[in-house]
Amino acid sequence: AYALEKDLKRTRISDKNLESLFVNGSNAKMLTRGERYMSSLKSTGNMRALAESGDIYLEDVYFSYPLRPDVQILQGLDLSLKCGTVTALVGPSGAGKSTVVQLLARFYEPTKGRITVGGEDLRSFDKSEWARVVSIVNQVSLYICSDYILFKFLLGTTLRNALVNKLAQEPVLFSVSVGENIAYGLPDDYVSKDDIIKAAKAANAHEFIISLPQGYDTLVGERGGLLSGGQRQRVAIARALLKNAPILILDEATSALDTVSERLVQNALNRLMKGRTTLVIAHRLSTVQNADQIALFSDGKISELGTHIELLEKKGGYASLVCTQRLAFE
Ligand code: ATP
Repeated sequence: AYALEKDLKRTRISDKNLESLFVNGSNAKMLTRGERYMSSLKSTGNMRALAESGDIYLEDVYFSYPLRPDVQILQGLDLSLKCGTVTALVGPSGAGKSTVVQLLARFYEPTKGRITVGGEDLRSFDKSEWARVVSIVNQVSLYICSDYILFKFLLGTTLRNALVNKLAQEPVLFSVSVGENIAYGLPDDYVSKDDIIKAAKAANAHEFIISLPQGYDTLVGERGGLLSGGQRQRVAIARALLKNAPILILDEATSALDTVSERLVQNALNRLMKGRTTLVIAHRLSTVQNADQIALFSDGKISELGTHIELLEKKGGYASLVCTQRLAFE
């Protein structure tokens, strides 16, 4: 199965050819986890093809949280994320930027309006299919889930499934080894150790990992004590690189990292963003400046849209935000 996936990546084998490979191979033996994963990849083939080549549109999106139905967070949001480009979302705290992320990740659905990818309404796809083509790197929720095993047994099925679903999509670190954390969510027989190391190297994480007591087999400490903020972020980036999803949602860290760590993280993020349709809630000036488009968010919709230079020349809300936040950004 692993070889097939490599072939698929190398030759961009068509869905039809892939199907015939599976039909031919299906009599051979019981399916391993990797083969089942490959099979499910095939069923997400269409979704993946759309995500790899289609633009994403948020069309006249309205949203209020179920617990606060009277408060409209998004009010007719229109935003296009062009395939393979980076869109930075900026705006005041509480404006609804993370809410856009939640909708794009499909933790919630729009109250009104729709989100499309390649012209298809997201609601026409299975949520788990969508989860396979989207990676989320989110510093805020990057914590160690040491009680994961415990809660698996204690919680009721519905709540547990909801949490497991959420955890599967968010960059939580588990109390397992660093290597297992990078490969988290992908079947063992699908991911080789070499792939894990390759992803770690691209995420600037390999050097610090091999200096840990047991290298890739080192257990991530309780509540992340073993890893610094920047290191945890690079593990999350390595995981996203390994997952290789065409759509990337990035909620940048607000917490200050030291200069070296900051450079390593930024460098890894640049590699991760390359060629992917990226929506980033941007806090770093470097990310904002280099984004293909910047959307200023206020009152539940986009009030300004353009490149860094265009918006500065406009001398509007973005320009004043940059002035007031320049020191914080840098
Ligand atoms: P920040 O930059 O501070 O992270 P933001 O622009 O990302 O802010 P959101 O987190 O999207 O803003 O929040 C927008 C509004 O929605 C806030 O008023 C917040 O209190 C509210 N909100 C967020 N999550 C929920 C929730 N699960 N239930 C109810 N209200 C929520």
